[in-house]
Amino acid sequence: MAGKSFFIDTTRCTACRGCQIACKNWNQNGASITKNTGSHQNPPDLDGNTFKLVRFSEVESKGKLAWYFFADQCRHCLDPPCKDTIQGYVDGAVVQDEATGAVVYNEKSKTAPFDEVRSSCPYDIPRKTADGRIVKCTMCIDRVSNGLLPACVKVCPTGTMNFGEREAMLVLAKERLEKLKAKYPNAQLLDADSIRAIYLVVDDPKKYHKFAIASATPGIDRKLALRRMVKPVRSLLRFISPV
Ligand code: SF4
Ligand code: SF4
Repeated sequence: MAGKSFFIDTTRCTACRGCQIACKNWNQNGASITKNTGSHQNPPDLDGNTFKLVRFSEVESKGKLAWYFFADQCRHCLDPPCKDTIQGYVDGAVVQDEATGAVVYNEKSKTAPFDEVRSSCPYDIPRKTADGRIVKCTMCIDRVSNGLLPACVKVCPTGTMNFGEREAMLVLAKERLEKLKAKYPNAQLLDADSIRAIYLVVDDPKKYHKFAIASATPGIDRKLALRRMVKPVRSLLRFISPV
């Protein structure tokens, strides 16, 4: 599948949070009200003003303390469940850009039920703004469609954040994985076949973040299946009903 992809090499991340700030800056998102939670992760979670968040995890690995950093963001799924959910309520509220594959919500998504949209995302990404819009990373579609890199990639000083043609990113990711495998037998690429933000980790993905890999949402899948069955019938009824 063509289009663009990120390759996010967590082994190079120093948690400087340049990407997080650049994302806020480019999207003109304000600061979030936050508090000290005993972690450098700040704010504590993604929110309506924070589309990219560097997650910090202190975990035990092979009897030692490990400190893992995970620059979390929308994965721009090849077949995005959030799009199915939103479009089930309002047509034309999500664009999947043909050239890049970016999944972008517009103002119409406001009318979809936020809780259902959020829980249909296997990576727990969508958030809501104070004025009710459902938001997330846009792949900086405005920058990328003008030949620029996404803001988070542009500022990353360590080579963690990479972006380009999908095939090139997959090659880069696989080459880096091969290099790391000798020292880190658990090194792996996360869900690389189904998403456009491909993470490389060297330990159990759950040690980095609960939603580092796709979580199953069977309840939502059943609802979506039902809505897909009902939607054509609704449209037909609208078509044949007298005006
Ligand atoms: S800018 Fe790069 S090194 Fe800094 S936190 Fe983001 S991904 Fe990590
Ligand atoms: S990661 Fe979540 S929000 Fe992003 S495209 Fe996939 S389902 Fe949608």
